[in-house]
Amino acid sequence: MKLTPTQGHYQTQSPMTSAHIAQTMTLLYMTATELLQTIDVELSKNPALELINERRCPMCGRKLPPQGPCSICSQPKTLDPGETIIFISPRDDFFTYQGSSSSSLEDYPEDPFASIQLDLPTYVLQQVAPDLEVNEREIAAMILTNLNEDGFLTIEIREICRFLHTLPSKVEVVLKKIQRCDPLGVSARSVKEALLAQVEFLSETTGIPEFVRRAIKDEFELLSRHQYSELAKRLGTTVQKVKLVSHFISENLNPFPARANWGTIRNPNDSTPNVFHQPDILINYLNNKPGNPLVIEIITPSRGTLRINPLFKHAVKDQIGEKQEEWKKDIEKASLLIKCIQQRNNTMRQLMEKLVATQKSFIIHGDTYLEPLTRAQVAEELGVHESTISRAVANKTVQLPNRKIIPMAMFFDRSLSARAILRNIIANENYALNDTEIQEELENLGISVARRTVAKYRAMEGILPAHLRRIEKFATT
Ligand SMILES: [Zn+2]
Repeated sequence: MKLTPTQGHYQTQSPMTSAHIAQTMTLLYMTATELLQTIDVELSKNPALELINERRCPMCGRKLPPQGPCSICSQPKTLDPGETIIFISPRDDFFTYQGSSSSSLEDYPEDPFASIQLDLPTYVLQQVAPDLEVNEREIAAMILTNLNEDGFLTIEIREICRFLHTLPSKVEVVLKKIQRCDPLGVSARSVKEALLAQVEFLSETTGIPEFVRRAIKDEFELLSRHQYSELAKRLGTTVQKVKLVSHFISENLNPFPARANWGTIRNPNDSTPNVFHQPDILINYLNNKPGNPLVIEIITPSRGTLRINPLFKHAVKDQIGEKQEEWKKDIEKASLLIKCIQQRNNTMRQLMEKLVATQKSFIIHGDTYLEPLTRAQVAEELGVHESTISRAVANKTVQLPNRKIIPMAMFFDRSLSARAILRNIIANENYALNDTEIQEELENLGISVARRTVAKYRAMEGILPAHLRRIEKFATT
């Protein structure tokens, strides 16, 4: 199969073999980081595959400078601000990049596409900030700057009070808000407090029996020493149930909040796998100026250009029998890998083109602007199988212009805009609306969901039920 640059990108000219399809599917499923590891493994075991110290643009084939994207493909083609620039960016530094690079060349003094790796305090602050009152901000800041590696608070509440001249009850309120952020239980002062925060959050969405909470809250000593029969007696239940509780805790709760892969969206019902801090796609405004065209950078991991080793290819002729067969297979495998990486790039580019065209407002303005979109729809429009889109979306993360990193699956989350609207309704309520009233408000806005779904969305957003909000928001003023 010959690959030629057409309309600015490579197009395949002959139908793919089944081996080609299978490997492309496998590569599609991988994140950029995993793909880099796969290439490294293949380089180490296949003598036919070679990495040359030359970077080429995967889209136009031009030779690239040692760093930075293709200067042609990453530029706007028209003066239309509505235009979107999409390009595939070969780089090997994407997963270690932390804001500024000391080795950047003069031509590329600042990399506008650099992803920033959020630290835990910043990550949590971004989540809790909208829920904080003005006078709570400095308390939150002090809490978040005094967390250890495990996510535990390392100073006493009375120290915070003394320092900020505030009351312990005020600090407690902020602590509670922070503990509901991802990673759940962060800023707890003990394992027990962390577990309790997690179980309380989870019990709002799932049917966790009350005695699980009691086991942690009142009988934590017995629980951690596995004294099941005594525990059963105190909780008024059976030993078998107590063992189930213990199992549930070890399976679902995290005693050290920050040791988990935090960065997942805060949603216990969501099966989205962990979101890592290395985005696969970067979305930015051209020259970082809002209003400019969007620039979509699709990371393809690369330290140079992969190719078939010409000496190896030449030497095949001199081999005989089994050895020659073996070498031929190595060459086939190597060329397949190269083709499939190109195919993966192509699919990712088409997918992002489609996603950005549909979800531009969501990318720029946020959650409420998410358009309903299914993987099947995208598949149909791109003329590929739905499973191709599912694999391309799986495990991938996208960094938005506001530097927030989200799972790519979020572009398909049908509940997201409803949840954002629900959040808005509650933020503007004059009294604590119950779920039926919220359901009616949503209905008025053209969103019809069951009351049960309202309760679920509310819990996903970490919003208390009406009777508790009444106390929190409206009882004392
Ligand atoms: Zn190019």
